[in-house]
Amino acid sequence: MKNSDSRTDSKFALDATAFYQGFHLKSKSTCITSDLVFDEISHIQRNFSILDTLVSNRRIMIFEPDIMSLRLVQDAAKQTGEGRLTDADISILALAKSNDATLVTDDFAVCNLAKILSIKLLNLGTKGIKETRKWVKFCKSCGRGYAPKHTICAICGNKLSIRYKKMTKSEIT
Ligand SMILES: [Zn+2]
Repeated sequence: MKNSDSRTDSKFALDATAFYQGFHLKSKSTCITSDLVFDEISHIQRNFSILDTLVSNRRIMIFEPDIMSLRLVQDAAKQTGEGRLTDADISILALAKSNDATLVTDDFAVCNLAKILSIKLLNLGTKGIKETRKWVKFCKSCGRGYAPKHTICAICGNKLSIRYKKMTKSEIT
């Protein structure tokens, strides 16, 4: 058994891309973020009441990273020549580092620096492409896909199966 604090293990630091993907809505763990990241995402008006509630319930906690951690991240960014990072990026990297949190991001540059700084990483890995999954019905014999209302394959007469399919943006109707 690993002797560790479960609260620490399940703490996630979210950057803006993590919020845009709705990680805070799915996560049952405490999400932390920096004030700069929160400013960046709080303009999403339709989500703001949800954000507000999550902050009130302390499911999302907003911190300002300490100067030492910020300097550490800034130095690492300089050394690697990573010029694509915003102040918000730097702040969430610093916060993840100082809190020993798992950084949740979909940003390539942030991922790179997190690896260099030995920050635990949960890369959402969609490279900016919004990913959606949905249940689809299909025939196991011929592979034909069907709308949810169908139960029998029109070609083979087999009972349809369902699966959870990853959709690309062009496939979403
Ligand atoms: Zn069929």
